[in-house]
Amino acid sequence: EEKTLAIIKPDGLLGNYTERIKNVIMDSGFSILRETITQLDEERASTFYAEHSSKSFFSSLIKYMTSGPVLVIVLQKKNAVADWRTVIGPTDAVKAKVTHPNSIRAMCGLDLEKNCVHGSDSLQSAQREISFFFGEISSG
Ligand code: ATP
Repeated sequence: EEKTLAIIKPDGLLGNYTERIKNVIMDSGFSILRETITQLDEERASTFYAEHSSKSFFSSLIKYMTSGPVLVIVLQKKNAVADWRTVIGPTDAVKAKVTHPNSIRAMCGLDLEKNCVHGSDSLQSAQREISFFFGEISSG
């Protein structure tokens, strides 16, 4: 089985979407290995999104991700990384509402930035992101 990192971003938590998102998680066959609520500060958010540091939207992204607490979840299932990306839908929530109406981002996202959830984009990112929040976690 594979692990991936999901984050319910500040708009998702604030909008009380947690329960609905967790229902989708369970219905899609994931198990929740770990979860924690945390408030990112500028430094931690910038480290987490370091790959985007040169992008025009970086400062706005950091402001968004530090605007309130986030719920960080380690998900596990076979093919977890790709399957979670499918379940959350495309980055742009406006497009998601049209092309992937059953996706999580269609359900609770607002636009290209405020898209309510995160999912690791590769196995390597998943491992980096899981240890970023939880350190090395054991068991398979
Ligand atoms: P995530 O990494 O959060 O799962 P993603 O892989 O779909 O999302 P990335 O391209 O990695 O998207 O961008 C990371 C995050 O930065 C997006 O989820 C979104 O919140 C924000 N973002 C991406 N592109 C833009 C943009 N053009 N304008 C504003 N915000 C953006």
